[in-house]
Amino acid sequence: MKKRTLSFLFILTSFYSFAFEGMWIPSVLNAAFDDMKANGLKLSKEEIYSINNTSLKDGIVIFGGGCTGEMVSNEGLLFTNHHCGFDNIQYHSSIEHDYLKNGFWAMNRKEELACPGLTATFVIEMRDVTDEVLKGMIGVDEKDRPTKMRDLFNTISNKAKDENKCDGFVRGFNYNTQFFLVLTKTYTDVRLVGAPPSCIGKFGGDTDNWVWPRHTGDFSVFRIYANDKNEPAEYSATNKPFKPAHHFPISLKGVKEGDFTMVYGFPGRTEHLLTSAGVAYNHEQLAPMRIDFREKNLEVINAAMKSSDVLRIKYAAKQSSVANAYKKWQGQELGLNKFNAIQLKKDEEASWLEIAQKEKKEAEYSNLLTSINQLYKDYYAVNIASAAYAEFVFNGPEVFQLYQDFHEIADDEAKLKKGNLWEAKMKEFLETAKAFYKDYDLETDKKRFLAMAPMFEQFTKGAVHFEDVKLSREAAANRWFKGSMIADSAAFLGMIRSFSKDTAISMSSVSKKYAKRLGAEYLYVQALALNDYYKKTLVPSKKEFTTKHDLLMEQYVFLLEELRGKKEKWCDANSTLRLTYGKVEGSAPVDGMAYTPFTTGQGILDKNSTGNPDFEINDRLKMLLQNKEFGSYGVNGTLPVCFTGSNHTTGGNSGSPALNGNGEWIGINFDRTWESTMSDLYFNSEICRNVMADARYVLWVIDIYAGAGHLLKEMTIRR
Ligand code: ASP
Repeated sequence: MKKRTLSFLFILTSFYSFAFEGMWIPSVLNAAFDDMKANGLKLSKEEIYSINNTSLKDGIVIFGGGCTGEMVSNEGLLFTNHHCGFDNIQYHSSIEHDYLKNGFWAMNRKEELACPGLTATFVIEMRDVTDEVLKGMIGVDEKDRPTKMRDLFNTISNKAKDENKCDGFVRGFNYNTQFFLVLTKTYTDVRLVGAPPSCIGKFGGDTDNWVWPRHTGDFSVFRIYANDKNEPAEYSATNKPFKPAHHFPISLKGVKEGDFTMVYGFPGRTEHLLTSAGVAYNHEQLAPMRIDFREKNLEVINAAMKSSDVLRIKYAAKQSSVANAYKKWQGQELGLNKFNAIQLKKDEEASWLEIAQKEKKEAEYSNLLTSINQLYKDYYAVNIASAAYAEFVFNGPEVFQLYQDFHEIADDEAKLKKGNLWEAKMKEFLETAKAFYKDYDLETDKKRFLAMAPMFEQFTKGAVHFEDVKLSREAAANRWFKGSMIADSAAFLGMIRSFSKDTAISMSSVSKKYAKRLGAEYLYVQALALNDYYKKTLVPSKKEFTTKHDLLMEQYVFLLEELRGKKEKWCDANSTLRLTYGKVEGSAPVDGMAYTPFTTGQGILDKNSTGNPDFEINDRLKMLLQNKEFGSYGVNGTLPVCFTGSNHTTGGNSGSPALNGNGEWIGINFDRTWESTMSDLYFNSEICRNVMADARYVLWVIDIYAGAGHLLKEMTIRR
């Protein structure tokens, strides 16, 4: 190996002068493992991750689309966050059964609620296939690379899937500089067992989201069911509780400041390798634009939710998902500003350049960096318009997406009919449309449209324009929405029912008439125009950017590794299984202010007495806290509620088990502190802290608050 210079050492320490930065791939824990041991881990590598023996990984799942869940009994009981189970809690809620407000507890297995579409996915194996992929890519022409790589991924994963009789995929890490085959098994019968009321599970609401000190019991309880061979099966009353290979013992012994902790789960996305231009684009362009969109969106949703209980229930899940990132980006902006993250990146780049000069790679380094940074300029318009499209069509007024989804099938009518798939597809869509109407309010949707459309038009630079030459925008929107088929759920659903033959009466002539009416409708025509703009303009250009960007980044990361003399220390989060570790610790995020790492039940009462509606609690919770009815969960007259640690986490880690050095469950990860919201782009070990609900609070809520102590009997509890 070449002799390293002093400045190289400086770079290593300045890049990695972190205590616990990193999201480690559990199948290749190398240097991190020694550090974990030194900090208090008592387990072997094999106990954490193994393909031959039972290990901790066998108790962890990807919960739904993008959260983590963990097994806590050998009868399929699973913990995840309240905010991860929220869609399903909301799905089952109504004015009569307001589970959002009052909570839900199945007092026996029969009362557990099926959750259509909800899945839990276990990882069977994560295998490093870097050499195989890189070998397969030798000599491949630049323009053929994406296709060739996709083919290679398929060949490798298909072979492994056949051999192991399971699902799987190959994913690139750190801009395709490493590759892993991930083999998985997905269970599709997952039922809701328990959820605390929002005044516990969402205590603090938007006021406290991303904030410490925190007092949220952010957990919910589900159960996985399987067939009589313990294998995945669609929902059936005859399915049996799933028996996991591992479930986490729960430690009620409590945690102290400085104790070792780890968080094992599926972090979604970090971007710690972005260049200065990448950070600048995110920080100066993308985030401000998204924040503005969401502010307008939320003004409408929040007002609607305040106006009636029906709308509060309908919009609860949508509000949460829009509001969550809205607030996070604001915190991230403050953090990146405060630390001048763009300048930090530029300084890093200057240090790399110095090393590159010494290694005679200066031209290569500068050319790569210049090309990457130039790309952000060249593709600015398309990148920002694509993000605006996502805010408007995917997170804004819902009419367009429903119409687009319908059109996607209708457009394929001839082909689908030929393949005898038309009715089945329409049946599937009927379910989508029914779910849509369950939580839809036309007036609110129109207001979201009016609030967001002008900004969307502005970011598309004239490519999109909603107009009625004779009427004001508001008057026109009234007409567009009121006269639309969306407004007439009976007609719309009736049309789809007839297409899917879901009715005894043949309605084909009626449905044809409706289809004609739909085709002539302003909002429908606009939905198709938007779709066209997205598919024909935005998607191809965005793809072009991503392909060029990722290819340059691949070369860039390889070059950094060469300059450093070894591989990047950790790989950005990409929704694969990772282990992060740290300690129970607070932080001093602001001059003159320090966070201690623990909160207690008293904080709930204190916040409640401020009168802020986000801190409202019900009588039962208040009474139990005031009377200090803590059962065996209290400590010296207090009830532990949440704690912070220096584990490096991100979205997707929501619901991940927080574990001690023995691999026992000490709580559930659910958030980060305000000053940590920047950590997807810039992790600062002095400041960044994850937030976990304490095991004692979770079990107190189940046992004492909810009286669902029968669930505890299934768990392995260590006192
Ligand atoms: N609260 C987060 C989430 O919404 C978890 C995190 O990002 O730390 O996913």
